[in-house]
Amino acid sequence: MKPAPFGYAKARSLEHAFELLGSSEARVLAGGQSLMATLNMRLSAPRLLVDINQIEGLSNITRRGGALEIGALVRHAQAESSELIARDAPLIALAMPHIGHPAIRNRGTIGGSIAFADPAAELPACLLALGGEVEIAGPDGRRSVKADEFFKGLFDTALLPADVLTAIRIPAATPETRVGFAEFSRRLGDYAMVGLAACARAYPQGLGDVRLAYFGVGATPQRARGAEVALTGAAGEASVDKAIAALQHDLDPSDDVQATAKLKKHLAGVLLKRVIRQLAEPQG
Ligand code: FAD
Repeated sequence: MKPAPFGYAKARSLEHAFELLGSSEARVLAGGQSLMATLNMRLSAPRLLVDINQIEGLSNITRRGGALEIGALVRHAQAESSELIARDAPLIALAMPHIGHPAIRNRGTIGGSIAFADPAAELPACLLALGGEVEIAGPDGRRSVKADEFFKGLFDTALLPADVLTAIRIPAATPETRVGFAEFSRRLGDYAMVGLAACARAYPQGLGDVRLAYFGVGATPQRARGAEVALTGAAGEASVDKAIAALQHDLDPSDDVQATAKLKKHLAGVLLKRVIRQLAEPQG
């Protein structure tokens, strides 16, 4: 199929982008890896695409105090090869090779992935597991939104129509940080049937601050809060069994073209076992 007719404008600055996005039915164009597919399938028909690729300052990966800031226009491939991300955000480094294929990772951006909020995508779940924040600039100024509040519903986020997502910010890993990542997809590079991104801290008495973010099991990435509690503190077979049992209440997936809800719940438990093994190991 061919897209419906649309206009194209290059934003020279954030202010210029707000002005262009203020006109009716305009959409941000970043890497185009999701947007162009939705246009070609006529799932959306904006009148104007606002290309933000020329805006300066959105492609940096920067350590600021205890946080790592990743600019919206950082390409997946740039993130995949970044030493800063490997050191300070090892969960993102683990997830990167699962996102599409090299050609997609060469163009697709971190900001586009978070803004698009595909419920089966890896990065939104990583951001949620890491307890990160989304940096947003709009005509009324700048604001930060916590990942727990950013993903509102199916492809729906806290972004307003004239907003530009400028960066994500995540707490940088410390020696106590433990992360885990696993997904089931039919082929490497396909969107996941079910996936799990996890982050915790290792304390002498066991794991703490456990955050488990599943993807592919609902309209948004989902925390498995009962399982998080079960894994906090004492380690061992009993806590693993309790955490897997808690998933029955934590997750409520629907059948989809890839798998039944029952299979998804089963896979969620299998992934949890794999990720628990990763959480037991220091990274790096
Ligand atoms: P675009 O396509 O340009 O934009 C996507 C949406 O986000 C649009 O609505 C746009 O308006 C909005 N947007 C983009 N940037 C901003 C911003 N800074 N501020 C506000 N709004 C913004 N992704 C996965 O996660 N996992 C996969 O396994 C995977 N497989 C793929 C396989 C194929 C064949 C293809 C084509 C894509 C796949 N993707 C996958 C999607 C890919 O990761 C995209 O790059 C990503 O989802 C969107 O990033 P983008 O920069 O291309 O955004």
